[in-house]
Parts: sequence; C-alpha cells; structure tokens
Amino acid sequence: CGIVGYVGDKESAPILVSGLKKLEYRGYDSAGVAVVNRNQLNVVRATGKLKNLENRVAQEVPKGTIGIGHTRWATHGRPSDENAHPHSYKGVAVVHNGIIENHLALKEELRAKGHIFSSETDTEVFAHLIYDELERGVDLVEAVRLAIKQVKGTYALAVVTANDPNRIVCTKDSSPMVLGLGQGQNFVASDVPALLEHTRDFVYMEEGDLAVVTAQRVDIYNRQGQIVNRPTRRIDWTP
Ligand code: GLU
Repeated sequence: CGIVGYVGDKESAPILVSGLKKLEYRGYDSAGVAVVNRNQLNVVRATGKLKNLENRVAQEVPKGTIGIGHTRWATHGRPSDENAHPHSYKGVAVVHNGIIENHLALKEELRAKGHIFSSETDTEVFAHLIYDELERGVDLVEAVRLAIKQVKGTYALAVVTANDPNRIVCTKDSSPMVLGLGQGQNFVASDVPALLEHTRDFVYMEEGDLAVVTAQRVDIYNRQGQIVNRPTRRIDWTP
C-alpha cells in the first residue's frame, strides 16, 4: 500500500523505515525493506506494526545505500512474513501496490518453466518475470518494460537487483508514484509525505511512465519508451 525507495550515499534502511512510517496513514498489515550491498540483496520483513520491522532492522541493520521498502495491504495472500513485500527471486527484488489480475495464469506458465514461488501473492510474479527477461540478456530497464507488458492490472512498482546495484527502476499504472529529487541522492514514494524530511522537489509520474533513478539523476520514459520531461514541483506545505 505504501512504497519508499532510496539511492544515494547514506545507509538506506533507516531512511526507508522512516519513510514508511510517514505512510502509515494509508493502512497496512505488514512491511519490509530490500537493501543492496555489493551485489548482495538483503531482505527484512515483518507482519504487523512497523515497530516489528523496525526491531528486526535494528537487530541486524541491512547495509547498503540503495533500497526499497513497502507497507502491504493484502489483496492476494493472507498477511504473513512470507507474503510481505519486498518479494525477491534470484537477486531481483520488487515492491508493488495494486493488483495483478492475470497472476494465476502467469504463475502457471512460470512454474512450467521451473520457477518456484515462495509466497501466495500476485506481486511475486513481477520478480520472476523480470528475472526471466534478464536471463535472456536484456538490461534491467528493458526487463521491467517487457515484464509489465505481460501483466494485466494496476501497479506502482519499484525494482532493485543484486547485479545492477546502482539504480532503482520504477513504473506505474493506476497507482500513485512520485520521485523525490535530492543532491547526490534521489527517492521514490507512493506519496509526498514519505519524503518531505529529505526534499521539497518532486516529480509526479504519469500513467505508464517508467523511471530510472540513480544517486545522480532521474530519467523518465513514457509507455512508448521515449524519454520525457515531467515538471518538477516545489512542495511548500507541511502535513
Ligand atoms: N496485491 C499485492 C499484495 O497483496 C499488493 C498489495 C498492496 O498494494 O499493498 O501483496
């Protein structure tokens, strides 16, 4: 139900958890973060209050200056640690808001190819689809593009991978997603309040947009894959 992403020069886990807290008003039943450090993906998840996730993160802080976080409002699969996002498969981690309508058919096809699923969620298919595309030799941006073409439904999606550890790729259709712009660091979130302690400069992603977010820059493409300029808005209010 809520998404936060960070890439920059600071430890990402505390930034992600504090961003998720600002999105608590959206409601949730579980939460988690995925952080990448030197080609290694670390995922920490917990059912229930964000405090549970905070405690787990405090016990063993997942290191890394890039990561994604999520608060989940279950639609497919009961609230549990296994069903909490991020969902990962062989180094590909995703967080997702929305519903994938054709997830059963996609799971069936992927299982036939030997994929093993570790949750009951619709979301997990994204990690598997993206992994399959990467295996065919395309880069992460193209893999995300090809994956979303196979999906019917609604999504705000953010992806990080162990093998391409310097960028977050995110895309949205019918679920909100904003980009927060910083100095040597950039952010992703489902809503502005998650990021106001870090930046006041935001870009609202439009339907079908895909963004490639690194510490230094943000590039946005429309559904046709053309690079586009979306206006930067200065947010002056405080929630
Ligand atoms: N449909 C996904 C799930 O049930 C995402 C739910 C959400 O938007 O939080 O895991």
